[in-house]
Amino acid sequence: MTAATAALDPGPGPGPGSGADADDTVTVSWADFRAWERQLTTCTHPIRLRGRIDAIDLATGELAPVYTTTGEPDGLLHVACGNRRETVCPACSAVYKRDARQLVRAGLAGGKGIPETIAAHPCVFATLTAPSFGPVHARRMRGKTALPCRPRRDAHARRCPHGRDISCPTRHVEADPRLGQPMCPDCYDYEAAVLFNAYAGGLWRRFITYLPRHLARLAGITQKELFAQLRIRFVKVAEYQARGVVHFHAVIRLDAPGEDYQPPPPAYTHGLLCDAIGQAAAAVALPAGHHDQAVMLGFGPQTDRRPLRRDTIVSTGKPLDAEAVANYIAKYATKTLTAPGVPDTRIRHASEIGGLRCSAHYRAMITTAWELGARQATGDARFRQWAHMLGYGGHFLTKSRRYSVTFGQLRAARTSYRRAQRHPGGERDPWGRPLDETVVLILTTWTYAGTDYSTATPGAELAEASAARAREHHEQAAAQ
Ligand SMILES: [Zn+2]
Ligand SMILES: [Zn+2]
Ligand SMILES: [Zn+2]
Repeated sequence: MTAATAALDPGPGPGPGSGADADDTVTVSWADFRAWERQLTTCTHPIRLRGRIDAIDLATGELAPVYTTTGEPDGLLHVACGNRRETVCPACSAVYKRDARQLVRAGLAGGKGIPETIAAHPCVFATLTAPSFGPVHARRMRGKTALPCRPRRDAHARRCPHGRDISCPTRHVEADPRLGQPMCPDCYDYEAAVLFNAYAGGLWRRFITYLPRHLARLAGITQKELFAQLRIRFVKVAEYQARGVVHFHAVIRLDAPGEDYQPPPPAYTHGLLCDAIGQAAAAVALPAGHHDQAVMLGFGPQTDRRPLRRDTIVSTGKPLDAEAVANYIAKYATKTLTAPGVPDTRIRHASEIGGLRCSAHYRAMITTAWELGARQATGDARFRQWAHMLGYGGHFLTKSRRYSVTFGQLRAARTSYRRAQRHPGGERDPWGRPLDETVVLILTTWTYAGTDYSTATPGAELAEASAARAREHHEQAAAQ
């Protein structure tokens, strides 16, 4: 998410956003504005800034101009929007995706300052999925063969209480638009599906909070003893299944405590971690409002777990290597809900829902979310806020603090690389001396001058928030 959308983060409760790194997405180092400009040629929604950069010699108090936007076309500096959503800005989301890939890979195979020995730590790729909310069309596979979707198991027609045939002999192809659609919309539990999406982030947090308890039990020690021996580190992404319900893919790794990425004691194996993940996912439960009474939400009965090791050949016969997993996770880091007709901005009025040209199934989820937002029982307007996301308002990529490098570190590395390329002999201040920020004070002044969005769209608010964040950043930089 961008800084702007992070500012709109709903916090705990429905559509929760958990502790993603509070990275700045809009950063214009005084020395890097040219590079930003170059990068911008592809940004779809650049932010326009007006302003100047000056340097003050701390010894003499002399002020010298470093840069001003008056020399730019239209007197404006264009800054990349930094939006992580592919649907909003393909160019900026591609940068984010590349960073996500590097970040995931570093936590699996080392690199970027992480020791390569990390590849030997117990590490599992887990997929936590929602339970069933009613039968849907599905592409079921055995090896490379598609199986019938929902075959008739007896001679009699299978009918639901609404008289609908809920069998389906079709071997669905991957692009079949029926995939994920319920066999009977009246049987399908839309409220539970939307509630699951709304509380999915909270379920994940409970899962990761209680995972140490299950690990400790399996290892036959107390949680306190466990914390003295290891830390659980993870990166996870949320992905929409065809049925419009999110599920999580996570890399979960065990390290020794500390910041140097050492292995945990040998007693903690891949197998032990796999078992603990299975138990924790099965045990996690979260009460939520439903039909004016609390319902217990949880993950589905099956949690897919695959150990990640350099030498592991998984059951499918394909090695699950760091590169493949990193690509897989990065792919979802920038994807939100992409289905034809589903809006990528917030729904403001119920009347908009009728006009959506999406599938009846997604429309039913959006309608359900909208209604849950009005109801006293849930009493939470955030269901409306995230109705266009089918109830999910959380982050699409989150990680523990010490999983590997941070997005901020990757950006900083890129900046210093560019800087080194542009100034092979080192940077100079306006007086021709090697740049030393203890000798000169850099003063930056930026004014937000608009974006490519028209001011009538919600996007303008996002951009404005982004620009405000940028201003803050520069004020902080100037104050240092
Ligand atoms: Zn952009
Ligand atoms: Zn089917
Ligand atoms: Zn039915």
